Amino acid sequence: MTDTPSIPNPLCEIGRNHPRDKHRMKPLEDYPGVWFCPKHDLYATVLPEDVAENIERGAGYVMHDGSEGVAGRTGDERPGGIVFYYRSGH
Ligand SMILES: [Zn+2]
Repeated sequence: MTDTPSIPNPLCEIGRNHPRDKHRMKPLEDYPGVWFCPKHDLYATVLPEDVAENIERGAGYVMHDGSEGVAGRTGDERPGGIVFYYRSGH
């Protein structure tokens, strides 16, 4: 028993844009609420919609581990917000 509803992992941002390459991201170990795509080196998390909307694509974004990343697009709506993609800055 868990209070986390069973929601499928989000689709990778790349897969959203390339229907032939649809694949889901994997939960990132040690960082609940963060997903990772090892194939595309891409991360995702859920942010409140108004927060995600105010982050410009390509702008700097502080990642889950505190390091500098780069903001990506937003994805599907989720309980508590919207899927937000980002990648490592290096
Ligand atoms: Zn991917």
